[in-house]
Amino acid sequence: MNTIPENVVETLLAADRVVLVTHVHPDGDALGSLLGFAEILEGLGKKVFRYLEEPVSNLLDFLPGCDRAETDPAAVESFAGVDERVVAVSLDCGDSERLGKNKDELLKISPFLVIDHHRGHRTFGDMSWVDCDRSSTGEMIYELALRLDANISPDSAFNLYVAITTDTGSFRYENTSPRTHRIAAELQEKGVRPEVVANLVYDNFTLQRLRLMEKVLSTLTLFEDDQLALIRATAQMLKESGAESADLEGFINYPRALRTVKVAALIKEGAAGGVSVSLRAKGECDVARVAAGFGGGGHRNASGFRFSDKSVEEVEQLVIRALKDAIGHGND
Ligand code: 5GP
Ligand code: MN
Repeated sequence: MNTIPENVVETLLAADRVVLVTHVHPDGDALGSLLGFAEILEGLGKKVFRYLEEPVSNLLDFLPGCDRAETDPAAVESFAGVDERVVAVSLDCGDSERLGKNKDELLKISPFLVIDHHRGHRTFGDMSWVDCDRSSTGEMIYELALRLDANISPDSAFNLYVAITTDTGSFRYENTSPRTHRIAAELQEKGVRPEVVANLVYDNFTLQRLRLMEKVLSTLTLFEDDQLALIRATAQMLKESGAESADLEGFINYPRALRTVKVAALIKEGAAGGVSVSLRAKGECDVARVAAGFGGGGHRNASGFRFSDKSVEEVEQLVIRALKDAIGHGND
């Protein structure tokens, strides 16, 4: 684990206004970090703009402060356009491409800081703190709050706890360090109740989401002596179930949970075209490397990539071939 760069700390302390951004389709770590950090910065007397490309999905709309996020890029521009010291901070984003369709406008804000923990992080912005040994961006924001001598309110603690617990799969993945547990314990001491978080994160399905799960899991196909599992989600399934694409979050954990499986893949057909792929590995197989081969990225055990110009069938064939190779050649 590395230390927080001094220039990041100084720039944040000197800022009057902070624009917080994260990756498209934000997960619990992205959104929890953003909302938690927003309130920490406000506690330090800064004005904060919580920018998201899209409204918060039903999976995460229990996060305190999510109703204060804004999706209008013109509003970011007027917030950042005043004659005060403005800083942008990107959270949990491993690649500037993932900042979304307004990335060019966002990246114009200067200085632009980057805080991230993705392996294979592609450097962007003016200064960054990237630590791949951290479980989550939420964990990094906690350390940063300590370094800034900031107060962590109960709502911030809740958001950071959600960030950490979701990115570690409830403290089950190898990214969970002793420090992760200590931070979680300190957040609990600030009032976070783990059973309340678990209930909101895991036992909070809409009926539409369960119907979608039924359809997606029925596509399960196994290869390589059941070591490779593939599931598929089509635009048609989304439509029929009435669910939103964010509802697919976590489905890949079911094929991954099969005792024989080393790698699981979820192929997602976007409603507006394009096909995205999520990969999950257990054990030694490095799916970040596989994703990088297709222009994507992520972590050793969880990665993804996207094609804008291929059909679901074409993508499936490419993915099966690449993953058979990865498993067969002892990709470790
Ligand atoms: P998920 O499968 O949950 O969408 O993503 C798993 C991991 O892969 C996340 O850490 C995410 O940042 C990364 N990832 C997913 N899709 C992409 C992509 O299109 N490009 C890059 N660089 N990383 C991705
Ligand atoms: Mn993360």
